[in-house]
Amino acid sequence: MDKKIKFEDIKPKKVSLSKIQEKLEGFCKSLESTKDPVEALKVIRALEKYMDKYENNATVISIRYTLNTTDKYISKLQDHMDEISPFISNEINKFNKILVKHPCRKYLEEKLTPYYFQMIENSLKSFDEKIIPELVEINKLSSQYDRVMGGAQIEFRGGVYNLPQMGKFSTSKDRETRREASISVDKFFQAHEQEIGEIYGKLVLLRDQAAKKLGFINFIELGYLSLGRVDYDAKMVAAYRKQIAEEVVPVAQKLYKEQAARIGIPFKDMKAYDYNLSFLSGNPTPKGDAKQLVEKATKMYNEMSKETGEFFELMKDHHLLDLEARPGKQPGGYMTFLPIQKFPFIFANFNGTEHDVNVLTHEVGHAFQGYLSRNIKPGDFRSPTLESCEIHSMSMEFFAWPWMELFFEEDAEKYRYSHLTDSIEFLPYGITIDEFQHWVYEHPTATHDERCAAYKEIESRYTPQKKYDPEQKICSKGGWWLRQSHIFGSPFYYIDYTLAQVCAFQFCVEMNKNREKAWKKYVKLCKLGGRYPFVTLLGKAHLRNPFEEGNIHKVMIPLKHILKSLDLSKIK
Ligand SMILES: [Zn+2]
Repeated sequence: MDKKIKFEDIKPKKVSLSKIQEKLEGFCKSLESTKDPVEALKVIRALEKYMDKYENNATVISIRYTLNTTDKYISKLQDHMDEISPFISNEINKFNKILVKHPCRKYLEEKLTPYYFQMIENSLKSFDEKIIPELVEINKLSSQYDRVMGGAQIEFRGGVYNLPQMGKFSTSKDRETRREASISVDKFFQAHEQEIGEIYGKLVLLRDQAAKKLGFINFIELGYLSLGRVDYDAKMVAAYRKQIAEEVVPVAQKLYKEQAARIGIPFKDMKAYDYNLSFLSGNPTPKGDAKQLVEKATKMYNEMSKETGEFFELMKDHHLLDLEARPGKQPGGYMTFLPIQKFPFIFANFNGTEHDVNVLTHEVGHAFQGYLSRNIKPGDFRSPTLESCEIHSMSMEFFAWPWMELFFEEDAEKYRYSHLTDSIEFLPYGITIDEFQHWVYEHPTATHDERCAAYKEIESRYTPQKKYDPEQKICSKGGWWLRQSHIFGSPFYYIDYTLAQVCAFQFCVEMNKNREKAWKKYVKLCKLGGRYPFVTLLGKAHLRNPFEEGNIHKVMIPLKHILKSLDLSKIK
């Protein structure tokens, strides 16, 4: 890694589609014309190197775009990348078609593993030239949704805020502030309901159309294939949701009742915005601004292990953290990876709540795995499928527990308690978002209002405590999902967080028994990168498989003990 280079020094470039196509066609010809296995492998490696460069530039553009969605120049570059990316996929597809039928396949499979070929065959099933028009439109519509959300300017009590910035008011100790803030956010969605509803309606039809062109009955199977899910299917996910409904929903309901008693509001009168407040004395808030939090994180990662210390210094030295919320910045948080510089990059929107610390643990967990796997070859194996990636991040949140005094001081126990309860309460919400999407793609021609009605019904089953203020018109009609960006840009990517949470709970339990052993197991999992699909990876890392009947029950038992062991006497 270059010692001096900073993120801002990596300049985005406008690329020419025809030049890239020419280059990629060259790789196709070279692969097709060789019968020599060593030579064929060389071509594969060369293509990979070339694509790393392309990806690097695309990632730089995308980061810069999310940092400032109002920058016209970057916005144009982003649009250009959105437009050309399906054509690039098409070239890669051509290459892959040659590769799977190559006379040297046996040798290549030995070198690159059968899973590598399984992934390629998977991508061949989920992509074809004939769906390029749909993909181009889908990319545009997803960006349009991001622009609507990123451009939110919510007027509230004399100030103007974007969506993440409103988070601070929604968790206020003052009930009226929470109520008004939630209504203000809802009003933003009232004003944009038609626009966002239409974007989604178009996205659903386009995805359905693409799936049908490829011979699927609807988008569900295609969605799963696109996420690289080779060892589980929608039926297994439905059975898993049932386990969560039976094992976790009742626990969450009990926690909500305890919370109501704690904050002094009768359970029957609790409104959705009240659940944002965990304690009467206020939610745990990190002490210090973004800069101070990073200093604290530096101390934590230096103490956690040698590897985490080195890694975090690198993130700071190369300016790979952009954490503060600003107008124009896209909401949310993510980690991404630059394959050429071998840099992870962390994007967040700090808003002064405990969420800020979650970013410093969650996204850093992703980034740490990226760092540990930076040299894995082939590059496709650097990072696993998304549900596995979330194990890295969500487990790191738990490994950071012993340092919470550093961030929260006297609120540390409060933080640990609310982190654990939030994580448990997240599961019913996660399966709501997942079940909703299955409904949507099974009913692709449904209207916006029908979608909202379906959401409302699912929501009432898994999170029956959620009752909205009548002025929250969008939420009341079942439109909460309009704010859940994954539904728009990354269909079916949501259950992943719940699957990973179930695995992270296992690390939480193990680290309480034997921290050193649990940490070693975690580092091993991170270093395995993406060499295996989800279920196989769990086996390699000795983690319980959430799909197996009875496993959710087994994970929840020791977790309830940890919940009990947190010292509630300090918590008011
Ligand atoms: Zn994550």
